[in-house]
Amino acid sequence: APEKLSGIVTSFLDVVHDRLITDTRGAVADYIPQLAEADPNLFGIALCGLNGHVYESGDTDVDFTVQSASKPFVYSLALDDRGLDAVHARVGAEPSGEAFNSVKLEAGTGRPPNPMVNAGAIVTTSLVRGESSEERFARILARLSAFAGRDLSVDEAVFDSERESGDRNRALAYLMHSAGSLAAPVTETLDTYFRQCSVLVTARDLAVMGATLSNGGVNPVTNERVTSAETCQHVMTIMATCGMYDYAGEWLLRAGLPAKSGVAGGLVASSPGEFGLGLFSPRLDASGASVRGVVAAQRLATRFGLHVLHRP
Ligand code: GLN
Repeated sequence: APEKLSGIVTSFLDVVHDRLITDTRGAVADYIPQLAEADPNLFGIALCGLNGHVYESGDTDVDFTVQSASKPFVYSLALDDRGLDAVHARVGAEPSGEAFNSVKLEAGTGRPPNPMVNAGAIVTTSLVRGESSEERFARILARLSAFAGRDLSVDEAVFDSERESGDRNRALAYLMHSAGSLAAPVTETLDTYFRQCSVLVTARDLAVMGATLSNGGVNPVTNERVTSAETCQHVMTIMATCGMYDYAGEWLLRAGLPAKSGVAGGLVASSPGEFGLGLFSPRLDASGASVRGVVAAQRLATRFGLHVLHRP
């Protein structure tokens, strides 16, 4: 019966939550000063089924900035606006094996390695259509909101903080601008990128966003079609190969799910045809992913046999 299943899932989420709450490894990101203000003890786990039911444990309604977990969803918009070939003429589809803020660009073309590292995400943001930067950001916010199934907003303090401390992203954007890699003006593109990273979400939102990808582009809570099944397939492929940066290979080995981390402690994962997972805990590991989020996702994937290459 559905109630029984619901009870089993919720109690398993509670077990994982209670076991990992004592894990205090890692550190809250502080290279963006405003992020250092986060409460390191927060921990939320949410799972959204394709029937639209959300199972939750812990701090699943606490707002945090989406950061790099925005990248797959903005990539979906660039794909829908420009098509796969036009997007990948400007950004690669190869795991970089490097950190999220790596400055490595392809020799000759100036293309960043993939749309999940900062350089590639800045190019992706520049590919979103719009007459002005306002219109481009409005379309990004609408896309993130449609994935989440509610109207999202921007944390202006984090936006200001990112913009003030974003020298490395600024350097990356100017390097790519000089190589002809960007599809929109450089300062506007940076502001749009900083703004997209500063959109507020909850673990519950990330679960619904992940479930919308798993569900072939139809949000299972609102029943709205957000994007095509083909775009979801492309997005989840890039998440699977590149979503966890220099931990991507080991992540796929151990969790086996398309996923994306963010430096505020969010983690979104999709189990195609099954559900979406949203995790939040601000202490990060060396690759910039939530320590508890990574362990929790791996436990869930193992317990429920979720690896995308799993064959019973
Ligand atoms: N806004 C962050 C940055 O550009 C996003 C990085 C991340 O979440 N990995 O540095």
